[in-house]
Amino acid sequence: MRTPVNDYLEEVRETCIAEGDQGAVADYIPELARVDPDRFAVALCTIDGTVYSVGDDEHRFTIQSLSKPFVYALALADRGLDKVLEHVGVEPSGDAFNEISLEDSGRPRNPMINIGAITTHGLAGPEDATPEQSMARIVQGLSGFAGRTLEVDEAVFESERQTADRNMSLAYMARAQGMLEDDPRDAVDGYTRQCSLIVDVRDLAVMAMTLAGGGRNPITDEQVVPPWVCRQVLSVMATCGMYDAAGDWMSSVGIPAKSGVSGGVLGSLPGQIGIGAFSPRLDAFGNSVRAVRACERLSNDMGLHLMQVPEVASHVLYDVVAPDDQGDGTREVKLQGTMHFAAAEVALRELEGVPEDDAPVVLDLSRVSSANRVGRRMLLEGVRRLKLDGHEVRVEDPNTVLDD
Ligand code: GLU
Repeated sequence: MRTPVNDYLEEVRETCIAEGDQGAVADYIPELARVDPDRFAVALCTIDGTVYSVGDDEHRFTIQSLSKPFVYALALADRGLDKVLEHVGVEPSGDAFNEISLEDSGRPRNPMINIGAITTHGLAGPEDATPEQSMARIVQGLSGFAGRTLEVDEAVFESERQTADRNMSLAYMARAQGMLEDDPRDAVDGYTRQCSLIVDVRDLAVMAMTLAGGGRNPITDEQVVPPWVCRQVLSVMATCGMYDAAGDWMSSVGIPAKSGVSGGVLGSLPGQIGIGAFSPRLDAFGNSVRAVRACERLSNDMGLHLMQVPEVASHVLYDVVAPDDQGDGTREVKLQGTMHFAAAEVALRELEGVPEDDAPVVLDLSRVSSANRVGRRMLLEGVRRLKLDGHEVRVEDPNTVLDD
């Protein structure tokens, strides 16, 4: 059988093209203005590392701002949350990406805007890292996310470096506020290099999936950063990732994401999927028109919105059998689905209602497919308390969801 996934992606791509060629290519970096504006590619990466892609999926472009969440991840992993928070906040700015966007304390508002990203750049690598060592750490770390060695586009790097006055002024401002530890010229050079790393949409999808999968690259199996780092990065992407359109994006697409001026967009849906899309024409906010359209379609068609209310919690109780209905005089509580906090709470409420008689209780988990740490602890605590109340309790757990 030929998988329908690629046909579906192709259909999404064609629909997005048919909706018109609105937007304009970024030209403030001269080299970026030379790209073919009609290029368009979309890729998906699944949790087990299967990558689907259509369109110009082999076309490589500079990563630009899409590097920011990954460098933030490396800084968090290398220096810890407290240290990074001393230098960069986590609040949406409401300003353009290249504004001097500082809190009253002088701290850049978040790592997804330039002033925050330039500050974050120097936090990757060990405490006493030289600019070269920080850059080497970033190339190695982002390559880990992508699962292949990434290289710098020297022409784009030089082109942006020669026109980087604005970023230079941001770096001097961050330095003046005591937030940037490095020499501002080194910080901008390094940041510009990081933005000039070359990727294609398949790389973006894998990088996005690595974040969405708790830091493990689904293809190489490398644990690139720890899971807590991904939670932090995805949270900041959800609130600050799409320039000034972050709120609009979160309500319409609902996937933590980042976009960049070269036309790339990546989306990381925790535990599910990584999306990469590329098309150079940008809207007024600086987000790729066609890549945004494609993400909207994917989210709607495949039900990917993070805030889509899951139905599991209300269907946790599969059956409750009273002792009277049961030949052997036991009381059975049968559960189903996935045991997380909300589901386990429903189950505990049922157990709480078990009368203080001497009927044995059977907790039947044969239809429970998995339990997270919290769900497991709650169910085990329910069992423990039933026993303390004097009940004989039998747990049927053929899927061993209560085992660690
Ligand atoms: N290198 C670009 C800059 O600093 C990245 C901007 C972006 O992609 O948003 O201006």
